[in-house]
Amino acid sequence: MSAAIQFNFDTTYTNLPSFFFSEVVPTAVANPQLVLLNQGLAQRLGIPFDENRISEIGKILSGNTLIPETTPLAQAYAGHQFGNFTMLGDGRAILLGEQISPQGERYDIQLKGAGRTPYSRGGDGRAHFAAMLREYLMSEALHYLRIPTSRSLAVVWTGEPVYRERTRPGAVLTRVAKSHLRVGTFEYAKNFQGGAYLQDLLNYAIARHFPDLDESENKAIAFFEQVMELQAALIVDWMRVGFIHGVMNTDNMCIAGETIDYGPCAFMNAYEPKTVFSSIDTQGRYAYGNQPYIAHWNLSCLISALLPAISSNKEEAVKLAEASLQKFPAFYEAQWLDMMRSKLGLTQVDVKDKQLIDRLLGWMQGQKADFTNTFFYLQEGIFPDTATYQSSILEEWISDWEQRIAKENRSKADAQTTMRNVNPAFIPRNHRVEAALSAAEKGDMEPFHQLLEVIQQPYLFRPSLESYQEVPESFDENYQTFCGT
Ligand code: AMP
Ligand code: MG
Repeated sequence: MSAAIQFNFDTTYTNLPSFFFSEVVPTAVANPQLVLLNQGLAQRLGIPFDENRISEIGKILSGNTLIPETTPLAQAYAGHQFGNFTMLGDGRAILLGEQISPQGERYDIQLKGAGRTPYSRGGDGRAHFAAMLREYLMSEALHYLRIPTSRSLAVVWTGEPVYRERTRPGAVLTRVAKSHLRVGTFEYAKNFQGGAYLQDLLNYAIARHFPDLDESENKAIAFFEQVMELQAALIVDWMRVGFIHGVMNTDNMCIAGETIDYGPCAFMNAYEPKTVFSSIDTQGRYAYGNQPYIAHWNLSCLISALLPAISSNKEEAVKLAEASLQKFPAFYEAQWLDMMRSKLGLTQVDVKDKQLIDRLLGWMQGQKADFTNTFFYLQEGIFPDTATYQSSILEEWISDWEQRIAKENRSKADAQTTMRNVNPAFIPRNHRVEAALSAAEKGDMEPFHQLLEVIQQPYLFRPSLESYQEVPESFDENYQTFCGT
């Protein structure tokens, strides 16, 4: 009999030296129950499943049943966590294989929370249900906001408790990503075994993600610059929607340019660059406004890991590396400006745009105005009847903005139409996320499913869902997010 869920697996990771992974099978759980299955994603990946065999699917996606196609392994990597270098590796995630989609795309299929591995250190190898639902919801939110991200195929309840700050129900999440190669994977290759396997990793990453680079004069530099461009684009996207990743350690930064590792992430409400919600980020290292600087810092870790592959002449390597790395700020800034222009419906470049944008952001910050809603009001041309928006400063700014649109020989209505593709009407508001997760933990999945539906069409305003735009006053002041470990 065929399996209840069918993969079209390949496994190239095992072609790398065994230094990069450990074969390990998931630890079976007590009573797996499939709670969520992402049917749209399954279809896109070309993973047919038999809906009449839900219980078998739960067994496969919890790791209880190993279907023959799988080669389960945990990946080794290192990373800088809050600036400190350390050895890491998949401590609770197990790669089942690489799914080849009907379009020929390759995706890692990984079980998160599937049990201990040789890299677990003191951890239990498990994940708790609310944290996995959170990852499912937030990664879907980013996907529908059209931001590169890992995705979630399923959540399976394990029927086992996990012990955190309190006892919580456990779960396994099936994560789908273009790959799990991280900046930290390169740091691992460079810093252990005398760097003997760095070139293998670089060749693998290029073949997998940037096959066109194979002809480049300096492959390591060309590779780095591709990663840099993808990262810049990703951060610009996060900044566009007010997303705060929360834990941009180098092990959580993927070479393929996808958002990965949904722990303490959250969306900013009131515009404030210093916004940080993560309970452990006491210094604000990963605050909203710091994200581009941290991306640059992480890229400096990547290029220093690549140095031996850039040139065997150390001085030459450093010179080339510095020249590449220093391109980031200007590259990022230009893309950020383009993005902000698009949030204001502008398509052409004017030297005073930065000033216009900064004035709006400065006003928002001073007023603690909601980032998402302010752009929504501008694009709809309707403002709430509150003191914040009945402001002469804002009026003056709007009149300058209108003149700026007119310079492009377009109508304001035209500009506003294009804004609707860029400025979301709906994001997963923190209080909604928490309410959905706490109901789910008590057995009521309804608020979660409602929120999931709202965030699946973030750019389409639906008047019946207006309450999803509301932000309760001062909720954020005490709001904290956790790594979910
Ligand atoms: P993260 O904060 O999710 O990026 O995880 C940092 C490191 O801790 C990675 O090596 C994880 O695999 C590991 N880790 C996180 N949670 C657990 C856990 N419950 N058991 C074992 N390892 C874990
Ligand atoms: Mg991580």
